[in-house]
Amino acid sequence: TDIRELLLSRIRDVADYPEPGVMFKDITPLLADPGAFTALTDELARIAERHAATKIVGLEARGFILGAPVAVRAGLGFIPVRKAGKLPGATLRQSYDLEYGSAEIEVHAEDLSAGDRVLVVDDVLATGGTAEASLQLIRRAGAEVAGVAVLMELAFLGGRARLEPALEGAPLEAL
Ligand code: IMP
Repeated sequence: TDIRELLLSRIRDVADYPEPGVMFKDITPLLADPGAFTALTDELARIAERHAATKIVGLEARGFILGAPVAVRAGLGFIPVRKAGKLPGATLRQSYDLEYGSAEIEVHAEDLSAGDRVLVVDDVLATGGTAEASLQLIRRAGAEVAGVAVLMELAFLGGRARLEPALEGAPLEAL
């Protein structure tokens, strides 16, 4: 609970961003604090080790900032899952529904294969749509899901319930 309080104290609530009525959770104060950022990285690396992950997938864009140091700390490879159109090589693409419309994410097909156990890292689980699509990508690549680890879960949006079937028993850890 010490670490939870430290992390919570470094997250800023920004009202009406990116649109009226939304309370945005801003993690930049946490990133700017080396003690908090290191504590978060260490905690996520412990989760990767506990679930025997062999690769870290980070979700664009804040999942890159959090996932990359976790991969280095845990001694694992880092794989970016990007918004469609940003990766230069052969990709797998997955679309998912948003409140209005849809979105697409991609991964380099050669970055994941059978035998990999993948931990997905991101800052915020909101509706769960992005994380759900990333799990579909991982499985389509033939790899196994070790779990999903996020700094924050916005529980009132029901992301955990949406993600549950795609987890197939793998853990969702929210710090
Ligand atoms: P979801 O697909 O609805 O779960 O949205 C999750 C994605 O949106 C993650 O990649 C988050 O980085 C981003 N996101 C949603 N809400 C917030 C927020 O309040 N703060 C920071 N990122 C957010």
